[in-house]
Amino acid sequence: MRQALAEARTAFDAGEVPVGAVVLAPSGEVIGTGHNDRERTADPTGHAEIVAMREAASALGAWRLSGCTLVVTLEPCTMCAGAAVQARVGRLAYGAVDLKGGAVGSLWDVVRDRRLNHRPEVIAGVLADECAALLTEFFARRRVR
Ligand SMILES: [Zn+2]
Repeated sequence: MRQALAEARTAFDAGEVPVGAVVLAPSGEVIGTGHNDRERTADPTGHAEIVAMREAASALGAWRLSGCTLVVTLEPCTMCAGAAVQARVGRLAYGAVDLKGGAVGSLWDVVRDRRLNHRPEVIAGVLADECAALLTEFFARRRVR
């Protein structure tokens, strides 16, 4: 999560909503990193999780991230939770909850929906205060401007 937070800070400095993610291989090795880059890339799918999973899949040469862990500073949205299921991610760890748009327990629970054939293990609230503080600071600064 520390590395995901560093990614989030990179996004913060670039004026992007500060969310960062990393993907760990089953061995624990980091095989993908990403931060929100929607503004820079003008890509609506440019969320930290998507960027990190793309890099991890590319590193593995396979779309299946079975046994991998996706670590992200903010509770994933429906798109990213859906992508984590599609990628067969083994475990999903997130920091801050997203009460307005979270799809891993807050508004929806996409990754634990029994109608889907793959359900990653979820670890919520990892360094939640630190993850949330970065977002709070970002939006507070934005309001001042
Ligand atoms: Zn997302």
